[in-house]
Amino acid sequence: MSSPVFFTDLRAANDQSLLDKISNLVEAAGIQKVVKKRGLTAIKIHFGERGNTAFIRPVLVRPVIDVIAKAGGKPFLTDASTLYVGTRGNAVDHLTTAILNGFAYSTLQAPLIIADGLDGRDEVAVPIDLKLCREAYIASAVVRADSLVSLAHFKLHEAAGFGGAIKNVGMGAASRRGKMAQHSEVAPAVMQNKCIGCGICRDQCAHGAIRLEDRPPDVPRPREDAAKIAYIDQVLCVGCAGCIHACPQGALAIDWEKDLPRFMERMVEYTAGAVKGKEKRCLFVNFLTQISPACDCYPFADAPIVADIGIVASRDPVAVDQASIDLVNAQPPLDSSCVKGCPDAKSDKIRAVYPNIDWRHQLAYAQAIGLGSMSYDLVRL
Ligand code: SF4
Ligand code: SF4
Repeated sequence: MSSPVFFTDLRAANDQSLLDKISNLVEAAGIQKVVKKRGLTAIKIHFGERGNTAFIRPVLVRPVIDVIAKAGGKPFLTDASTLYVGTRGNAVDHLTTAILNGFAYSTLQAPLIIADGLDGRDEVAVPIDLKLCREAYIASAVVRADSLVSLAHFKLHEAAGFGGAIKNVGMGAASRRGKMAQHSEVAPAVMQNKCIGCGICRDQCAHGAIRLEDRPPDVPRPREDAAKIAYIDQVLCVGCAGCIHACPQGALAIDWEKDLPRFMERMVEYTAGAVKGKEKRCLFVNFLTQISPACDCYPFADAPIVADIGIVASRDPVAVDQASIDLVNAQPPLDSSCVKGCPDAKSDKIRAVYPNIDWRHQLAYAQAIGLGSMSYDLVRL
């Protein structure tokens, strides 16, 4: 069965600003049914790593907050701590980063709450009993909220292929333990003939899993001064994948065929855990703006791969992500971005940037476990 996905473009005029259009969009998508009178409404958002510039602009969040308050709910903005070294690994750093990135009660009139507490350990083990996970460890503020509104910045992602509603909720609302469980089978390996022993990956790893050792004489040197080589301790490694993107040599890789499908499946199962018990009280909004080639967890954002498109909203997280991909793939690729010259860039932007990632698996598995439908009707407002 097809699910409705509501779409608004970014055109605006004197009598209708983009802020008005965002209010209309979430109302059309059914926010009144999602919000419970006097109920707590978690707005799950990514506040952006410090240095990142592609996350959703706070001014665009304000209309959603206002509509929820008008419908009788009590909105709060929330996210959970990260696994990797960065500026959002605990509540103090996370809130500081959020405020520096422009999210604050004074401007948004909704409190900011880090959903898994001071150190990422406030969680609820939600029973889900699915193929890979019997329980999902979800940040407690998300579980205890009456309603959930996902505001996701849609972009590409180096492990999931893309990050939309499913990733915002499944990975984003998991506690640190839940994030570890999802990454548990992503185990990078060092390609010794490429590693120059620079140590960047070791400095990036929050879990002390990487060490440098003298290069054995029988391992070829990619360059003369490469006296050291990186080793990953598979016991200490939690598979956060933070080192993979940090390596300037592309010397760290995972088993794309084996690791990634199961990573996606765990993330999808966690999404089911995060919405469990409030399936009828969820709304998923994807912002197709500043569509960058990688996650907002990096302290930078590379140039967008297509022009800004608009915003989509649906009660179905699978449909909203499928519609987002289709809208992105219908756009011409921007030559000012990393997709310039990539084969497939006209038809499949994700494959163009990440040729090894079968991103469809994320949606197919989500549909298979009943999270939603890949089939949708786009309702243009
Ligand atoms: S960042 Fe890459 S090149 Fe540098 S030590 Fe780590 S694996 Fe080797
Ligand atoms: S994937 Fe493993 S080795 Fe790499 S940064 Fe994460 S924990 Fe460290």
